[in-house]
Amino acid sequence: MLDAVQALKEKMVLACKVLQKQGVLDGYGHLSARLPGDRILSTPHMPPGKVALRDLIVIDMQGQKLEGFGEPNGETPMHTSIYKARPDVQCILHYHPDEVVAVSVASQGVKVVANCGVHFYRGTPIYDSPVLIRNHERGDKVAATLGDRNAVLLRGHGGTVVANDLDRLLRLGIDLVRSARIQIMTASLGLVKTHTQAECEEMIKGHDRPNTNRRYIDYYISEVVD
Ligand SMILES: [Zn+2]
Repeated sequence: MLDAVQALKEKMVLACKVLQKQGVLDGYGHLSARLPGDRILSTPHMPPGKVALRDLIVIDMQGQKLEGFGEPNGETPMHTSIYKARPDVQCILHYHPDEVVAVSVASQGVKVVANCGVHFYRGTPIYDSPVLIRNHERGDKVAATLGDRNAVLLRGHGGTVVANDLDRLLRLGIDLVRSARIQIMTASLGLVKTHTQAECEEMIKGHDRPNTNRRYIDYYISEVVD
């Protein structure tokens, strides 16, 4: 089990480096992953893109620190609330990319205008407040807004994506920003076509294949590892 936790820690640090390299992080935001025994591995209260292995902390389901030197992030309640509401969720990314913030204030969510947005065809609901998620009550509201989707936008604030493994989380985290960016680019083009529900469902089928994220993830990892 120790090896599995160590491997998860290394993967989380790599994911942080990839997201940093892609320019989707700022000084804030955080990643977390579920550990056995109602524990959560988390980046600490520091810029996530600068996190090293020794910085990662372990917290409990109330957000209290169990291991590590750093302190939990102020918005930890968002993570604990989502883990409690969604047993299927194994990891969470919360961040504040400009493109996601821009789309969050347009009251429309992410539209599927490109293949990178197909993951989000079931909708990206908007949590309608810019106030940071610093208590369990707000955390529960974000979890309720997320529902059974894989992404929620927080108006004027950022976005949160959830997944069942870190590779998938990385893909969703990058593709949500790409999708929002392309949506913004198309805004001046007049009427644009979005993917139909049938097209999205057809494309999503392929996402269940084993190692379907491998080539995608390997590309981004190659950008940060020699
Ligand atoms: Zn935030």
